[in-house]
Amino acid sequence: MKLPALGGCHCGALRYEIGAEPLDSGYCHCADCRRTTGAPVLAWATVPIDAFKVTKGKPTVYRSSSAGERLFCGNCGAQILFRETPDPSYVDINIATLDVPNAIAPDYHIYFADKISWFDTKDTLPRYAAREPDV
Ligand SMILES: [Zn+2]
Ligand SMILES: [Zn+2]
Repeated sequence: MKLPALGGCHCGALRYEIGAEPLDSGYCHCADCRRTTGAPVLAWATVPIDAFKVTKGKPTVYRSSSAGERLFCGNCGAQILFRETPDPSYVDINIATLDVPNAIAPDYHIYFADKISWFDTKDTLPRYAAREPDV
């Protein structure tokens, strides 16, 4: 992957970069990810928080649950990131908002028990009913 990897929202008001290879990545099928993106599934990649930098604009912060909050563009609504609260060491960037999303492929599925019945992917990646096992 070419670093820094650049990304941003749909309207261009919000731009960011990541300066490190992702530690892992996956698909999340949980209802929080679905409802905050409006998509059947969210593909994310984890990077150390120090490797993430907003380079343009100011994200709107939305607390989606007691576990964490989401950053999105207040103009176009695109969600770019999930971070745990209150003191995260890592952030999960939304892969689809990268300029070159092909650069990072998901490694597994989480919250597969919550998957929409008509949605499926053709991969053979591990499928976890809830969170991935701790590594
Ligand atoms: Zn935007
Ligand atoms: Zn989720």
